[in-house]
Amino acid sequence: MDTAQGHEIPAVEPASAEVEVAIVGAGLAGTSLAAVLGKAGRKVALIDPHLVHHDEFRAEKIGMKQMRVFEKLGLGPAIGPLVTPMTDIHVFRLGQLFRRERKWEFAFSYGALVNGMRRALPAQVPLTVGKVAEVFTGPDRQRVVLTNGAVIDARLLVVATGYGEAVRRAIGIERVEESKAHSLSIGFDLAITPQQCAYPAVTCYARSPADRVAYLSVFPIGDRLRGNMFLYRTVAKEWTRAFRENPQAMLCELMPEIARQCGNFAVAGPVEVRQVSLTTSRQHRRAGVVTIGDAFWTTCPTPGIGINRMSTGWLLSTSRNGSRRPAWTPTRSAPSTTIR
Ligand SMILES: Cc1cc2nc3c(=O)[nH]c(=O)nc-3n(C[C@H](O)[C@H](O)[C@H](O)COP(=O)(O)OP(=O)(O)OC[C@H]3O[C@@H](n4cnc5c(N)ncnc54)[C@H](O)[C@@H]3O)c2cc1C
Repeated sequence: MDTAQGHEIPAVEPASAEVEVAIVGAGLAGTSLAAVLGKAGRKVALIDPHLVHHDEFRAEKIGMKQMRVFEKLGLGPAIGPLVTPMTDIHVFRLGQLFRRERKWEFAFSYGALVNGMRRALPAQVPLTVGKVAEVFTGPDRQRVVLTNGAVIDARLLVVATGYGEAVRRAIGIERVEESKAHSLSIGFDLAITPQQCAYPAVTCYARSPADRVAYLSVFPIGDRLRGNMFLYRTVAKEWTRAFRENPQAMLCELMPEIARQCGNFAVAGPVEVRQVSLTTSRQHRRAGVVTIGDAFWTTCPTPGIGINRMSTGWLLSTSRNGSRRPAWTPTRSAPSTTIR
């Protein structure tokens, strides 16, 4: 069990079980769904090969709309202590201060957020730490066989494996690449603290389309001052290599209007670069199987809609009697479950 930060992630070794919903993948999508269904009294198995989600550069900020959804779903207390709130964002356009946005945003480290949500799983929905070996699907029952031989039998199988392909491939769900290497996201810590920055948070848009930069966002995560830059370039290009080697010089050249206030863009620690392709799914409409989160489709991080998509999709679905659970979860009277 993970005892980091004083709480344990409720977890079990893989064992055969019969459940209503088997969720494969305990990232943000799978873990939130497991928590919500577990709290609603559903019998759920949540399966992931890793007890602790590794630290990685992913979504690092949400707005009030997404936070409200998490709160409505009872996940606010789990998320609250893990986020750094901000309310005063200085927005720069065409090299000048354009406006100050007085709105709530909440910053976090992705791994910490997912692990915090795992710790908040209801006791009756522990994380099954195991690797999936085989998957069998059908109109009435789904079977997930783990590498230790345990069999999880479920009415509904939810595939929440993010970029992972093994389970999707086993079921026959095809990933369609709509826009290969669509955009690039770069994350880094600045060498100054949030208190040393002249602004509580900054969004700075590129001055020229020729820069191929959408914007740079500078914001606090705890006592770190974080930079996220979103741009339209590819990871293998000379520009990206040059940025990795000397981010300070390139940031000062791209956005001189905020350089001084941001510690002249001295960067601490590694520059993390993620190339994102836009993908959708084919052959995913089958009885008894639902695909959610990045396992279903990936979005461009630039507009920050990955988590939004989740909150306006399954999280807010309500059944006909108004209860807050995804509309596609099995009802006790239905003979079989189909995806809508
Ligand atoms: C650089 C970057 C920046 C982003 N910025 C934003 C942003 O600002 N705002 C925003 O809204 N969105 C953003 N996104 C998108 C957002 O991060 C994702 O949409 C979201 O995290 C997807 O969550 P998920 O649960 O679907 O996938 P993941 O978090 O990847 O979870 C998948 C889980 O499945 C597990 N798994 C994989 N294979 C298997 C298997 N075979 N068996 C069992 N388990 C398996 C993995 O271990 C993992 O725990 C960003 C994405 C990137 C890459």
